[in-house]
Amino acid sequence: MFRAAATENDRHALASVGGVHAQTLAVTYGLGMTPAADSGHNLSGLHPASIAIAAGRPTAVPGAPLNTPITAASSFRAGGEHAYAREGQPTWEAFEAVIGALEGGTAVSFASGMGAIAACFDLLPSGAAVVAPSHGYSGTLLRLKQLQSRGALTVRSVPMNDASAIAAAATGASAVWLESPTNPLLEICDLRAAVAAAHSAGALVFCDNTFATPFGQLPLQLGVDVVVHSATKSIGGHSDLLLGVAVATDPDLAERIRQTRALMGATPGVLEAFLALRGVRTLALRMAKAQANAQELALRLAGHGDIERVRYPGLITDPGHSTAASQMVGFGAIIAVDAFGDGERAERWCSGTSLWTHATSLGGVESTLERRSRWAAEQPDVPASLIRLSVGCEDVEDLWSDLLQSLTASR
Ligand code: PLP
Repeated sequence: MFRAAATENDRHALASVGGVHAQTLAVTYGLGMTPAADSGHNLSGLHPASIAIAAGRPTAVPGAPLNTPITAASSFRAGGEHAYAREGQPTWEAFEAVIGALEGGTAVSFASGMGAIAACFDLLPSGAAVVAPSHGYSGTLLRLKQLQSRGALTVRSVPMNDASAIAAAATGASAVWLESPTNPLLEICDLRAAVAAAHSAGALVFCDNTFATPFGQLPLQLGVDVVVHSATKSIGGHSDLLLGVAVATDPDLAERIRQTRALMGATPGVLEAFLALRGVRTLALRMAKAQANAQELALRLAGHGDIERVRYPGLITDPGHSTAASQMVGFGAIIAVDAFGDGERAERWCSGTSLWTHATSLGGVESTLERRSRWAAEQPDVPASLIRLSVGCEDVEDLWSDLLQSLTASR
């Protein structure tokens, strides 16, 4: 039900402002909207693409806006559902309702993916042993290293594509941190096997699902305890925001994560949450197009004589293909290419494109590429010439001809 303002007094006060009806003001300014989890749509039985569109909307009553408004308020009138915005507020909750419904858990949004990741590490007991990817997102690994160097935890590094190494390292660990596909090497972790080993060792399992998105993979359904995303990437989808989200199946665990957010202060900006909510509405469409483009480009690149190796789990020849096929729907929109073993030529290839933007980050509608080792923070064993391509939603023929002309010019 649409709830105008918190109390009758508020209602009267609002009604007296310029003679405008309370509900009109409430709708115009987004005051006292119901939490977005009450979407006004019955989500049961809907497919994920429909859930992404229907969830997180204001309740469907006459006069209600279609979209959850940007609620720009640090504080709320006493006695209602919200009090102080660092604890939670309606625009974040609309975004969280959608991601929670897609992933199958309770979502908590953060200022960035790293905010969500740091909050997860904060859950662990001091001195915890954590199994973590030997190759994975550099920020995650750097943060673990920082925590280890101050004695907060110990890290057991294992390749994500080695299920028996993960199982061996899980014994006696408090947590197992998974990432699949990994950034930037696109290694595939057998999530079912990792969860089974971690849970039999009594460890909590986290999974960074940024590359797959909830349309590509549902780790919570495979038994993972907490999923994290950099919503900065495909979920936002337009390279115009920073945002993160953690999703847990256990509501108590989600509540601990929410409290950590409030106390660490890693809270999303309201505009960012609104933009990400707008972005997630089209995630299914964007992923379908970007993945189809990526599959085609990976095939063409693999057949090009100048390229040493293409890493893309959608290629039948990729070492992670069969595991990816058993746990993913589609193979994502990121390709890694080991280009000619020559970092300088790789740089020339990246800087000679025009439709493709030479830039870091990934998951936008626009295609981007970069040589990962240009960053000092990248893991040293990422090949010097490895280029990560984030495939967007442009026409695949335009993408191919731009890549090809720059590849030829880079010789
Ligand atoms: N996880 C992965 C796989 C990423 O690629 C990134 C950023 O590149 C992050 C987490 C961190 O996200 P953010 O930049 O939103 O903090």
